[in-house]
Amino acid sequence: MSNNKGHGHVVPRPDGLKARCGGPGLCPVCQTEQRLDAEFQEMLRKQAASAQMGMDAAKKAGAEMYRLGKQALDEAGRIAASTSFEELNSQRAANAMLTAQVEALEAERDALRAACIDAVMALAHASNRFPEYNAAYESVSAAIARKEQA
Ligand SMILES: [Zn+2]
Repeated sequence: MSNNKGHGHVVPRPDGLKARCGGPGLCPVCQTEQRLDAEFQEMLRKQAASAQMGMDAAKKAGAEMYRLGKQALDEAGRIAASTSFEELNSQRAANAMLTAQVEALEAERDALRAACIDAVMALAHASNRFPEYNAAYESVSAAIARKEQA
């Protein structure tokens, strides 16, 4: 309504003139201007509301992205903290301890095997000299043979 065609009552004319109509409540032109003005204001209000909604949604999305980013950073920090040098060193220490235990067990196993061989040799020697050891020797020999076949 930026032209000079309006009646000047509802929408002021740029030239300041007012048409001699029956008044904005009675004149159909003024009533149309009133209706169009109300529709225009409503359209502006809706546009402003949707712009506000868009801004609110953008703010909300921004806040959510910030929250997720911070969460990821916190998680990264937690992981970095949990794989500290102290942790790595204590894992190395645990590994070294396990290696030492395995070596000790292997040495013990070798010693027991040597003792078993000594015992079998002693039994073989005894069964040669004393017949009462023959049964024990035969039994041990059979057990060893079974184990070797398995
Ligand atoms: Zn009018």
